[in-house]
Amino acid sequence: MTKYATVDPTTGELVREFPVMSDAEADQALKRSADAYHGWREAGLAERTAVLSRIAELHREHATELAELMTLEMGKPIAQAKGEVELSAKIYEYYATTGPRFLADEELDIAGDGRAVVRTAPIGPLLGVMPWNFPYYQVARFVAPNLLLGNTILLKHAGSCPQQALRIHEIAEAAGAPGGVYQNVFADNGQVATMIADARLQGVSLTGSERAGSVVGGLAGKHLKKCVLELGGSDPFLVLPGADLPQAAAAAATGRFANTGQACTSAKRIIVEASVWDEFLPAFLAEAAKWQVGDPRLPETKLGPMSSIPARGELAEQVADAAARGATVHMGGEIPGGDGAFYPATVLSGVVPSMRAYREELFGPAVVLHKAESVDAAVELANDSPYGLGGAVFARDEAEADVVADRLDVGMVGIGTTVKSAPDLPFGGVKNSGIGRELGRFGLDEFANKKLIRTA
Ligand code: NAP
Repeated sequence: MTKYATVDPTTGELVREFPVMSDAEADQALKRSADAYHGWREAGLAERTAVLSRIAELHREHATELAELMTLEMGKPIAQAKGEVELSAKIYEYYATTGPRFLADEELDIAGDGRAVVRTAPIGPLLGVMPWNFPYYQVARFVAPNLLLGNTILLKHAGSCPQQALRIHEIAEAAGAPGGVYQNVFADNGQVATMIADARLQGVSLTGSERAGSVVGGLAGKHLKKCVLELGGSDPFLVLPGADLPQAAAAAATGRFANTGQACTSAKRIIVEASVWDEFLPAFLAEAAKWQVGDPRLPETKLGPMSSIPARGELAEQVADAAARGATVHMGGEIPGGDGAFYPATVLSGVVPSMRAYREELFGPAVVLHKAESVDAAVELANDSPYGLGGAVFARDEAEADVVADRLDVGMVGIGTTVKSAPDLPFGGVKNSGIGRELGRFGLDEFANKKLIRTA
């Protein structure tokens, strides 16, 4: 059952609870969204970009308070939380400033008489279903392009970050979004299903687990609604002969342990070609040792608590299963004493297909190191996953890495870097990692009506 509550993962304390909305309130929210749509699409670009610019400013003006709320509700170390608020501001700013150029009519080069243009138009009220792991950023990458287009938004955030959900709603209103253009909804799964079935709703975007994506995607298919799904990942990080190993080790540790390992594009599987294994392993363990757990409210803390005690329990079980079946635990792997959902940086090797950790997403600070006998074997291992979100390649040079990048079944590859999100770079995956793209020009097109205007 869906619950909306702030539970501090640093202490385990229940801080505040919020009621789920009634069915009548959910229906009323959808009505307000539909009623607001016509005014918002007619409002014109100047009004819409002004609202987006102001949302960006308000994120910056309230950066400390917003970041502290994130640390309270999901345990992100405060320095990383401030970084996320700034990235979110940049996304709103990007669509306010660069976005309008993507809305220009596109003249088609057609044979015969007359003209044909494709106009990028809105489609109507949309529902966003968002996760807790990047509470402002995930919302920004769905909301900013769609407010620019002229769509209206109903936002169902994760049950564990209700105060942040409410702050985003307040910021949108304070920025001048007319009533009904942006609404937070404390909906339960049944109300989400009812909204998707309703003729007034035109699309749904979900960022979250495969399980939730399959339910919401199934409903969207049944009711013929456009949908975008940004789901889980188990990104491979390939370390190949000739790579700068100290640099690769540092990037792999940051790529795995930032956000306490709770990112869809974390470097969850580090695949090391056999000839560099002996040198890479100690370098990586030394880097991983720098990620010590601490109080997320302190600016120097790199690894905070996980988002909740149940989330930590799930990760601990995946690690224990691997250890019991013969995997090597190089570091971590034990739940520490004391309050809170802390779990140490954990490094596993010798993980084989019979272990849960081989195929499942490890959504916390635990990493699997694989030794691959050749570059071909490394690529094969990388692709042996139900997921296809991101990946990274560290090789002798860019040309070699580029050939390998081409062979990876993923939506994004970093060469000499992990995949990092930016407002102008498309984000999304293939296979069970989802459907569609967010950010940049591509994110704007997902919920657009690419309308043909043909003139005789
Ligand atoms: P989750 O449990 O799937 O929750 C995500 C959202 O979906 C929450 O708002 C949740 O609501 C809602 N939800 C869950 N089941 C639903 C249902 N049957 N009907 C309607 N809504 C439903 O995921 P999470 O644990 O919060 O997030 C972690 C997952 O997200 C990981 O797998 C991660 O890799 C993925 N992720 C992907 C991306 C990407 O861009 N590809 C980015 C970030 C995270 P409640 O909280 O109320 O249950």
